[in-house]
Amino acid sequence: MTVVKDSGARAIMPPFGDEHEQLRETVARFVAAEIAPHVDEWEAAREFPRELYRRCAELGFLGLKFPEAYGGQGGTHLHDAVWVEELAHSGGSGGVAAGLNAHTSIAMPPIFNFGSEEQKQRWLVPGIAGEKIGALGITEPGAGSDVASIATTAKRQGDAYIVNGAKTFITNGVRADFLVCACKTTEEGGHGGISFLVLEREMPGYEVAAKLEKMGWHSSDTGELAFTDVEVPAENLLGEENGGFKLIMANFAWERLVMSIGAVGAMRRLIETTVAYALDREAFGHPIGKFQAIRHQIAEMATEAEAARAQTYDALRLFHEGRDCIKEVSISKLLTQRTALRIADQSLQIHGGYGYMREYGIERAVRDARLGPIGGGTDEIMKEIIGKTMGL
Ligand SMILES: Cc1cc2nc3c(=O)[nH]c(=O)nc-3n(C[C@H](O)[C@H](O)[C@H](O)COP(=O)(O)OP(=O)(O)OC[C@H]3O[C@@H](n4cnc5c(N)ncnc54)[C@H](O)[C@@H]3O)c2cc1C
Repeated sequence: MTVVKDSGARAIMPPFGDEHEQLRETVARFVAAEIAPHVDEWEAAREFPRELYRRCAELGFLGLKFPEAYGGQGGTHLHDAVWVEELAHSGGSGGVAAGLNAHTSIAMPPIFNFGSEEQKQRWLVPGIAGEKIGALGITEPGAGSDVASIATTAKRQGDAYIVNGAKTFITNGVRADFLVCACKTTEEGGHGGISFLVLEREMPGYEVAAKLEKMGWHSSDTGELAFTDVEVPAENLLGEENGGFKLIMANFAWERLVMSIGAVGAMRRLIETTVAYALDREAFGHPIGKFQAIRHQIAEMATEAEAARAQTYDALRLFHEGRDCIKEVSISKLLTQRTALRIADQSLQIHGGYGYMREYGIERAVRDARLGPIGGGTDEIMKEIIGKTMGL
């Protein structure tokens, strides 16, 4: 069989252009130099230093998609997508990516999209500067997929809301300075009775109840929060009272795209690492990558990763153009998370016993990838959404 040598050079893939590719190189250099070498240490410490937010902010990475007036770079979601993909590709830590992305991709966007000018000055500006860290609190001990059934209450009393309840599985929940928090503002709650309030960690009655131990994402903090009669000034209401469901839906699209793009970056890293290992490792007198079984396995991994990337970039294009894309985003989330998990597991198999050891970062990739089909809306919920968009 004739071997066709491929130079590896690729034309720039839409929706990205030259400018994005330059940013990609800058981000990749930064992540390889200032994040990747520390990942093992941060995973063991169960957190990355808070200082990393400041450093990323200094380089402009926390505000890529926000206007310059708030300290951002005045870019678009495409610039942010480059950051998210390269953070996963060059960093190799789901936890570091989760901690940074929860701040930039799920906690700050609602403030930018729904906040008043005064609220933007209070939380978005210091957030972009890496001075205040944000988290998004929707999930509760008794309500995950069924978002509308949250039980945390916010009862209006004069100029304030009195908040009681609990949130769990909150990324950055332990270190967050502010929490964009979903609360019930009517007796019935549900779609027409949820509002968002910004809670601040120093408010009396706001308690970090636990830092949760988990399977992967070790360098990110995942918190359980408890609220006992927390008095939240009415001026901390984000958007309209009882209009919170709109905010949740608006946020989910970008969150799910971010998870899809992160998986695309993680898959690229896994395949590069696996090809290098398969060419280096010898068994029975040959590099293992020269065995047809392994060569075919890697070819299938590359095929699945490329298909997932094409789907994700297309959903990103639709989102960027402001078109309806709930179906395409849900398909990307469903496709990329399972594919990334499968590819991580196959990479581990090809690495043999070394894959099971900490040294290569492959076992971490498997553990980190397992969250994908759960977080940000489970696979089953993605299928429900896709089915509903098809009239089922
Ligand atoms: C590490 C980590 C970080 C997270 N970060 C955040 C965060 O920052 N902020 C936040 O608000 N949340 C966060 N979450 C929560 C996450 O979004 C939820 O875990 C997720 O939405 C699923 O909710 P649940 O865990 O309560 O599962 P459940 O909703 O209890 O679901 C359990 C199982 O039932 C299935 N199921 C439920 N309903 C249906 C249905 N209608 N049809 C078929 N199957 C169904 C689910 O798919 C799942 O398999 C995080 C979770 C983790 C693990």
